[in-house]
Amino acid sequence: MTAQLIDGDATSKTIQQEIQDQVEQLRADHGIVPGLATVLVGEDPASQFYVRSKQKRCAEVGIRSFGHKLDADATQEEVEGLVAELNANPEVHGILVQLPMPRHIDEESVLAKISLGKDVDGFHPVNIGRLAMKGREPMFVPCTPAGCIELLDRYGVEIGGKEAVVLGRSNIVGLPVAMLLLHRNATITICHSRTADLPATCRRADILIAAVGRPEMVKGSWIKPGAVVIDVGINRVDDPSAKRGYRLVGDVAFEEAREIAGYITPVPGGVGPMTIAMLLNNTLTSAKRAAGLI
Ligand code: NDP
Repeated sequence: MTAQLIDGDATSKTIQQEIQDQVEQLRADHGIVPGLATVLVGEDPASQFYVRSKQKRCAEVGIRSFGHKLDADATQEEVEGLVAELNANPEVHGILVQLPMPRHIDEESVLAKISLGKDVDGFHPVNIGRLAMKGREPMFVPCTPAGCIELLDRYGVEIGGKEAVVLGRSNIVGLPVAMLLLHRNATITICHSRTADLPATCRRADILIAAVGRPEMVKGSWIKPGAVVIDVGINRVDDPSAKRGYRLVGDVAFEEAREIAGYITPVPGGVGPMTIAMLLNNTLTSAKRAAGLI
């Protein structure tokens, strides 16, 4: 059996078109243009790249972006002062503080200063707290975990009552995706570096989410026949035959796994493109809320 491919590129394009249509409608009917502010501290090339990608995708759908850049030696007060300014700006509906920040900055404190209603990354401790509680709704859900669930939904994968195994327990991916699956009535197991028997645990999964950052760690033999495999990992491996000298692989040994799984995401082109689509969606939601439309 060869698994059906879950195409994140195509799905994210569809979502982006839906967002663009709604942004146009919001402007035509209410004169509101959703706005996303990005805060970049320092010169980290990967962070600069991510912020540029987010701004580019905002422009594609008609979301206004407000780029703010602070020097690597910016103080805690300067960063938090900027966040306060953006909290007060009615044209800004979402604030994205690009992580990681330089070591001398207390990230937790900065994230906690973002207005709950503008926390489009979903990392504010109150939003994460609500996500972890039964019967509570966060204002926003973190984008990569939301992207995983959106892919399952758009491919008609039933979540309720299923056995879901999440590999990884980070604040950004593993933990929140596990909470989302729990809210959707999956029975969840969260694995990490101290889990005793990963292959056996993975083999129980109807839905397997891999977010460990270890190239091709999950082997085909770890997968239950017919399982749905969502590979969040993005890992560089050396490849002299590639133009850049490396290629990107996921946390799952794709070629082996696709022969056993029922559905599988590729890397690249799986979860990756969904993350920014969910960020755009959160910004649109925030603008609609600010206008009292939802
Ligand atoms: P972290 O490094 O923060 O977390 C990795 C998790 O995996 C930890 O919980 C760790 O366990 C666990 N882990 C690491 N090694 C092993 C192992 N050998 N066996 C079992 N568990 C292990 O990573 P992130 O969550 O931030 O990212 C995970 C991957 O997802 C990365 O490849 C990253 O690039 C990618 N990513 C992709 C995004 C996208 O848009 N598609 C967005 C964000 C991340 P422990 O807690 O015990 O240390």
